[in-house]
Amino acid sequence: MPQSNGNEITALVDIYGSNVFNDPVMRQTLPKEIYKSLRQTIEDGSPLDPQVAEVVASVMKDWAIGKGATHFTHWFQPMTGITAEKHDSFISPTTDGRMIMEFSGKELIKGEPDASSFPSGGLRATFEARGYTAWDCTSPAFVKDGSLYIPTAFASYTGEALDKKTPLLRSMDALNRQALRVLRILGNKTTKRVTTTVGPEQEYFIIDKKLFDQREDLILTGRTLFGAKPPKGQELEDHYFGHIKDRIAAFMADLDTELWKLGVAAKTKHNEVAPAQHELAPIFTTTNIATDHNQLTMETMKKVALRHGLVCLLHEKPFAGINGSGKHNNWSMSTSDGQNLLEPGKTPHDNIQFLVFLSAIIKGVDEYADLLRVSAASPGNDHRLGANEAPPAIISMFLGEQLTDILTQIEAGGATKSKPGGTMQLGTSSLPSLPKDTTDRNRTSPFAFTGNKFEFRMVGSMQSIAGANFCLNTIVAEILCQFADRLEKVSNVQKEISAIILEVIKDHKRVIFNGNNYSEEWVAEAKKRGLPNIKNTVDAIAAIRAEKNLILMEKHGVLSRVEMESRCEINYEIYIKTVNIEALTMVEMSKRLILPAVIGYRADLATSIGSVLAIDGNADVEKALFAQISESMKSFSANLSKLEKTIKTATGLHGDTKAQAEAYRDLVFKTMGELRKDADLLETLIDAEYWPMPTYSQLLFNI
Ligand code: ADP
Ligand code: MG
Repeated sequence: MPQSNGNEITALVDIYGSNVFNDPVMRQTLPKEIYKSLRQTIEDGSPLDPQVAEVVASVMKDWAIGKGATHFTHWFQPMTGITAEKHDSFISPTTDGRMIMEFSGKELIKGEPDASSFPSGGLRATFEARGYTAWDCTSPAFVKDGSLYIPTAFASYTGEALDKKTPLLRSMDALNRQALRVLRILGNKTTKRVTTTVGPEQEYFIIDKKLFDQREDLILTGRTLFGAKPPKGQELEDHYFGHIKDRIAAFMADLDTELWKLGVAAKTKHNEVAPAQHELAPIFTTTNIATDHNQLTMETMKKVALRHGLVCLLHEKPFAGINGSGKHNNWSMSTSDGQNLLEPGKTPHDNIQFLVFLSAIIKGVDEYADLLRVSAASPGNDHRLGANEAPPAIISMFLGEQLTDILTQIEAGGATKSKPGGTMQLGTSSLPSLPKDTTDRNRTSPFAFTGNKFEFRMVGSMQSIAGANFCLNTIVAEILCQFADRLEKVSNVQKEISAIILEVIKDHKRVIFNGNNYSEEWVAEAKKRGLPNIKNTVDAIAAIRAEKNLILMEKHGVLSRVEMESRCEINYEIYIKTVNIEALTMVEMSKRLILPAVIGYRADLATSIGSVLAIDGNADVEKALFAQISESMKSFSANLSKLEKTIKTATGLHGDTKAQAEAYRDLVFKTMGELRKDADLLETLIDAEYWPMPTYSQLLFNI
């Protein structure tokens, strides 16, 4: 066995965060007063002094140059869901023909990218191209590929948010304000700030680049638009947590190193349920940083995979018939003095603080289920949510045995005990007895309590986690605000708290479900309980315009009505464009690859039938196959024409994005499914030599 030597470990410790302008670096390199002032801005949100920015810029530049940077970029997260960057070099010519490296406070604080080519949902006509990026000092700058990356928020000339970061930061402030109010009423005098924390588990697929390059659908849309079910899928359950193949392990090791350098605390890696599917989870951190880090993780996965001759697929459903990919958004709230507000302790029944915050989440999730649903809605994620796959489109919460029992006790008159976890014996003295958790897990719940945090499992693998988290933060902020409004008015706080908790249980227990969320019975039961079951993105988008949600976002200063309206439009547009690209890709592949292959094989088959008949007189097998292929080909060709027609119809509806999105869903997307069925059948009928693209077996098992 190779001995790991101490040096390697030291090297690893040195690598972590080595490309990040993080707190230790700031403390070391910034003058003391400047450091203190910047820290205050980071921690308490006190305004940034321009003189401080000037010094920070200069020090940051020297540090970045020391790391090999020649450029800087304001790094932002427009509504495309991915990140954007424009690089400027530090160079500045001097009058005597030399050049020096310069970076001013102004350049650090503010950038001015042309905003006209980013989605704005009608907020900004293209002639009003100005957009601004503003330094977000709460997320540390870093050096990557020869540039200093400065995390920034992105807004229009008129100050409307054009990005994912701005509402997230605003929502964190909102939650902080309301949580502090509640904590104060509960007697907490020390907490200065409450922040939400997130650890997103990222699922992804890895396939061979040579095969990827032969699939136009993967290249253009990120998913396979055709592909017959392979003889083997995930039914043997032999991939989950399975031994990691050398080639994948080398990729993962390389990925970890790259992420550690950027200060992303990549912690867990394993094979996932579907063949060629894997997962990476970092250690949780502040929501804002976790969101930036998740973007970096996705980008780095793609980049590092290419180095290994591999391609990383982040699409929610790259392959039909096997699991798609999601992102488990583990979420909690913690105080500046180190308390996790969702830590139940040993006896949650008498942990009032925990029960108050838990109640706020229960009420919030029930009342704003539609908002959480749309936060996880995307064309790619439609293949998971609402299809026959985890998790379902119905929002419910899993609390587990212990908490459910406590709520039942409260409803019946008062909670007096918490069921203990106990220990578990494994039946042989050579194995240790294990402490048991108070609840088992529920893998099917979209919103599950997992000991000291909630896991929101609906988010798609490709999506930014900003949307889910700013909705979650704002929803919880609103309910905490309602609680605080009541509690601040009464003299008997204990009594009012009991009343609030009881009310929440009575009014909102319908959202709690500890059973199997994939079952048919649950769909029926949820309907009886009046829980919404919003099956697709187009229907989910309506929530963005719902009056109660506009009021919510406006009240907490997270998004204005205008900003919400623009997001609604952008969501419809993204849906329309995505389905349109997929449909056009299908048409092209059908006409230029599949149909010619089928025609070629059918013609050759006809020739061989002729030859066989010349010497045998019986070509029944060949003829039967010929007939089957002919029939499928006819259907395929008819559906191809139909798809082209539906695309034309849907395209013609421009002007009304909602109606157009509905047409893309009901006409185009539906016909795509019919065309695919024919193609997938043809794939199983014709000679492998003729099939013009790699099959599922090759894509999924040839690593
Ligand atoms: P599992 O797959 O069993 O759900 P993982 O260990 O893969 O668990 O992922 C759990 C994630 O939850 C990790 O990213 C972890 O850092 C995160 N997490 C743990 N505690 C908290 C917390 N208090 N707030 C937010 N995320 C947390
Ligand atoms: Mg996991």
